[in-house]
Amino acid sequence: MLYQRSSALFKEAQQVIPGGVNSPVRAFNAVGGTPIFAKSAKGAYVYDEDGNRFIDYINSWGPMLLGHAFPPVVEAVIEKTQSGTSFGMPTAIETEIAELAVSMVPNIDKIRFVNSGTEACMSAIRLARGFTKKDKIIKFAGCYHGHSDSFLIAAGSGAVTFGTPNSPGVTQGTAKDTLLARYNDIENVKQLVDANKGEIAAIIIEPVAGNMGCIPPKEGFLEGLRSVCDAHNVLLIFDEVMTGFRLAKGGVQELKSIDADIVCFGKVVGGGLPVGAFAARNEIMNHLAPLGPVYQAGTLSGNPLAMAAGLAMLKAVNNDKGLMNRLEEKTKYLHTGIADALNKNNIVHQINRIGSMISVHFCDDAVVDFESAAKGNNETFKKFFHGMLNKGIYIAPSAFETWFITDALTYQDLNETIAAVEEVAKTL
Ligand code: PLP
Repeated sequence: MLYQRSSALFKEAQQVIPGGVNSPVRAFNAVGGTPIFAKSAKGAYVYDEDGNRFIDYINSWGPMLLGHAFPPVVEAVIEKTQSGTSFGMPTAIETEIAELAVSMVPNIDKIRFVNSGTEACMSAIRLARGFTKKDKIIKFAGCYHGHSDSFLIAAGSGAVTFGTPNSPGVTQGTAKDTLLARYNDIENVKQLVDANKGEIAAIIIEPVAGNMGCIPPKEGFLEGLRSVCDAHNVLLIFDEVMTGFRLAKGGVQELKSIDADIVCFGKVVGGGLPVGAFAARNEIMNHLAPLGPVYQAGTLSGNPLAMAAGLAMLKAVNNDKGLMNRLEEKTKYLHTGIADALNKNNIVHQINRIGSMISVHFCDDAVVDFESAAKGNNETFKKFFHGMLNKGIYIAPSAFETWFITDALTYQDLNETIAAVEEVAKTL
């Protein structure tokens, strides 16, 4: 494949945009080479500026559950644009999408829309602190909750890909209120809570982690967190920015039958436009301005175009009873195919999978937390990434990311992907 135009565009971008990208995960720093510039996308495919076609397993890092340029979303946005792009006044569509989201997700009465997953998580902890009148939070090593200060402590995704899980610019004062626990280790959480009695406002977690590869919770782990929170008056925040409306229409709360106190959304909820949201029961949400004292706001929050895209997306997810099963079947098929291809070539690996999230790790032992994820062989991953790219398969340029399966993928696409793995495995 030729990447002449992408290379030229990258050179130009670097002059005026730090690192040439508006979000670090888009750069190829972890795998080497230069990023590919997207020109268009449709269904399961993304096309670059050089005219190459890729089967896309990034899908804008999650939002494209039903494929790129999903017609109901595109049509809704085009229609909405004709009547104005932003008002700074309430609109009927905000209530419509809120009603639908509240009906789909268990255990929430009210939802507030924001512009990104970062904003959703940042606002959720402020709300938790305001509600409990306590300051500290517990997060898990390798979980990513966006780039606000409190969360850039042992963060996953781009932060760890670039070797800066703790960012300069986060003050000591902020960092001291974020306590770190090991994912899937309930004893570690109990110790932290005991050592900080009466000080912890919330435990925030990706209930299925997707930012150190895909790591499902061990049996009983989420239940354990729920009990610890109940026993110590701590709020349990599920960051479902990745998993919400993806792993079940009601997210991991529905999938695992666990009630969180606050839930954060992003990605799928915006259908590809910049949207995040956080939601909870009335007693918590009523603490939010203008009803209560916890301040949170946004000039473009609930933007009509974003709401139109999100509403079309949620309707499609809600109305398609077979969707989650289809996604899971496709992901399972891919899992089996990739595992066979790697095994045939004696490539040591682990594959983690749940619903439509899957990740391939080149290591010996089960990947259950950040420490085990970090043991993956990055040299092998780099070769794998570039091998797949050259065969027209676009996976995330980092071993610490999940692949996102979309319903637009056909079994022919999956077979093409598995055939590519078989070829690439010979070179690893
Ligand atoms: N939370 C999780 C679990 C995420 O995966 C992400 C982004 O990848 C975020 C929060 C931040 O969302 P955004 O990038 O929209 O700010």
